Amino acid sequence: MKILITGGAGYIGSHTILETLENTDWEVISMDNFSNSDDSTFSRIRNITGKEIKNYEVDLKDLKSTEKVFEENPDIAGIIHFAAFKAVGESVKKPLEFYDNNLNSLKNILLCQEKYGVKNLIFSSSCSVYGNSDELPITEETGFGTPESPYGYTKQIGEMMIRDFIKANPSCSAICLRYFNPVGAHESGLNGELPSKIQDNFVPIITQTAIGDREEFTVFGGDYNTKDGTCVRDYIHVSDIANAHILGLKQLIKSQKNNSEVINIGTGVGTSVLEIIHAFEDATGEKLNYKIGERRAGDVSEMYANNSKAKSILDWEPKRNLEKMMASAWKWQKHLKEK
Ligand code: NAD
Repeated sequence: MKILITGGAGYIGSHTILETLENTDWEVISMDNFSNSDDSTFSRIRNITGKEIKNYEVDLKDLKSTEKVFEENPDIAGIIHFAAFKAVGESVKKPLEFYDNNLNSLKNILLCQEKYGVKNLIFSSSCSVYGNSDELPITEETGFGTPESPYGYTKQIGEMMIRDFIKANPSCSAICLRYFNPVGAHESGLNGELPSKIQDNFVPIITQTAIGDREEFTVFGGDYNTKDGTCVRDYIHVSDIANAHILGLKQLIKSQKNNSEVINIGTGVGTSVLEIIHAFEDATGEKLNYKIGERRAGDVSEMYANNSKAKSILDWEPKRNLEKMMASAWKWQKHLKEK
């Protein structure tokens, strides 16, 4: 069976390719224009698995070039659509670029599904669709909140586009996976997060500080109404997220229902920023240099998932604990430094 992974050179896409090659006999092709990655991802995948991935360097906003890929591959059984811009802060400064890239790419994928008869779609959504929710843990029934950024709105609109597309196309089905906070790296330490744009994800900042690339980092806010005053998030290992996509696609292929689902992908456990710092120090023996600063605009105080729907529908469970998340992220950071 052949599947198409868009954004296959990116952080979650590359881990999903690895998870697929390691645990299924599916053939994978990728579409990525390297707007936030480069082709070294595919060398890393080859080093780990011994397998070559065909990537089409195509901008998904360009319908003609996207169609060509489907014409060349008439046997695609399912699509996992990761390709999007994801930097929340940047989306506030450049909203139109985010709406243009994330929504036109998705629109073209849906047009190609319709034109070339591809029935199954897994879409990368995000807990940012919930906005600042008072309800904890957050279930899928919590409903859309007010996102803190244009990025969050692109995910809400993306989910709605998919819902309406599935209603209008009786042979198709889709699952939107709402990830919480993806962290960690492949257990080999040979693949991990390596965005080409500046990014502000917390764990890479921790590992860059520990390796000496940053002198110190700031914890934004120590006076939230949480267990220790710092923000609480649901950190989830990227390989556990990757696995949810495989289970999701298997489920769609098995059930063949004309349906679109939204499913939370998180551990169900809220971890504070200070707890993450201590987990990193315990897992690696490295001491981190940080200070507690002012709150950052737009940060939600506490957010974690109810993941029972993922357990019941996908038979999915997170397998890697906080220690594994931190140890693998550190292994990857050290590998990058050695290169
Ligand atoms: P990433 O930036 O590492 O990967 C995305 C990939 O898509 C990149 O390699 C980029 O070059 C490619 N891409 C972007 N626009 C494209 C286009 N128009 N045509 C072709 N390729 C394009 O991001 P990631 O962390 O792997 O995230 C994957 C998906 O998961 C995204 O949709 C993101 O919004 C979503 N998500 C990520 C997080 C997170 O914290 N990482 C959390 C929730 C949801």
